[in-house]
Amino acid sequence: MDQPATPNSFRTGPDEQGMFGIFGGRFVAETLMPLILDLERHWNEVKNDPDFRAELTNLSTHYAGRPSKLYFAEGLTRHLREVSSAKGLGGGAKVYFKREDLNHTGSHKINNCLGQILLAKRMGKKRIIAETGAGQHGVASATVAARFGYPCVVYMGATDVARQSPNVFRMKLLGAEVRPVTAGHGTLKDAMNEALRDWVTNVEDTYYLIGTAAGPHPYPELVRDFQSVIGTEARAQILEQEGRLPDTIIAAVGGGSNAIGLFHPFLDDKDVRIIGIEAGGRGLDGIEHCASMNAGSPGVLHGNRTYLLQNADGQIMDGHSISAGLDYPGVGPEHSWLRDSGRVEYVPILDDEALEAFKLTTRVEGIIPALESAHAIAHAVKIVPAMDKDQIVIVNLSGRGDKDVHTVASMLGMEI
Ligand SMILES: *Cc1c(COP(=O)(O)O)cnc(C)c1O
Repeated sequence: MDQPATPNSFRTGPDEQGMFGIFGGRFVAETLMPLILDLERHWNEVKNDPDFRAELTNLSTHYAGRPSKLYFAEGLTRHLREVSSAKGLGGGAKVYFKREDLNHTGSHKINNCLGQILLAKRMGKKRIIAETGAGQHGVASATVAARFGYPCVVYMGATDVARQSPNVFRMKLLGAEVRPVTAGHGTLKDAMNEALRDWVTNVEDTYYLIGTAAGPHPYPELVRDFQSVIGTEARAQILEQEGRLPDTIIAAVGGGSNAIGLFHPFLDDKDVRIIGIEAGGRGLDGIEHCASMNAGSPGVLHGNRTYLLQNADGQIMDGHSISAGLDYPGVGPEHSWLRDSGRVEYVPILDDEALEAFKLTTRVEGIIPALESAHAIAHAVKIVPAMDKDQIVIVNLSGRGDKDVHTVASMLGMEI
């Protein structure tokens, strides 16, 4: 069947059909094909265009605040060394945080939105549509649309609209129109279907801004490339600060955009262990989790073939996670391929473990992490005490946790 991209590199995919091995591709209605091919053509034109790059770098620097810092998390490192000593291990690696939480709008999502809005501008498309689950991508899309003066329509499941009211309000303030979707369970996958429907109906002027490294080809590739700034910076920063590469890098995986952004520049560094963290929710035994690679199976979702959560009849299931940003029922196709090829390990972290890491980081670092990022930190908390003192771990702090304080309060039985 499909050949690996090249036997010596994990960084050359996807192939011309948009496949990462048996994953990815474009499983879309015939009517969408011309739009996707047009997008691919423009993407191929701009991806190595110095003017496009310069414009993106300029905005990333002055609007979003890049480069983000690579921060030695001394408080967490000290704490985990104490844990290590108490266990008689006498170790504890140095932990670094890649500070995507410091970006404008509070997470890595702005990296992708800035890249795509510039692509939309190049294509002459002046109306932006997006879909959102928890509302974070909707807010980032509404932000860049406001910055460029484009109208923006955000599709959001009606259930999500009801439970994410602060983000709905933010999007409206930013001038976006939020369209609640009542089909299905009124969650993310229903919103995705509506966005695709809008796109085919408004062929001429509309750009579909996808929020994670998923969707039909070329979205997984272009989102990855826009997010790879994370790993490119982190790799240079750790070489500068420590004079060597890290031993382990860790990121949380929802659809997988912050994770692939950190991982991609390290994929061919064979001595770097790479770990993606899925939402284990209340455990993998039941259905209250979002661990598509640990407990799902391959199928087609959002225009690509990938691991996803489905029942015996192939119906997509709504996942569960304490963090709304991780409850995407699938995962970007490149992760599925990296999983099967063995290059990246994917591990679940439970709601309770993420909550503990959230509290710990807040107390020992004075940083309130996003609950998504707390999943990645929770895994570091597990493995770092058994590592050596001269080893290095980088955790992607994908976002800040201000958005999560209500969720955390209710988990702790408190009122704000
Ligand atoms: C949206 C989000 C995620 C999950 O999305 P990915 O595409 O998997 O990166 C993780 N962390 C934060 C802070 C988010 O907002």
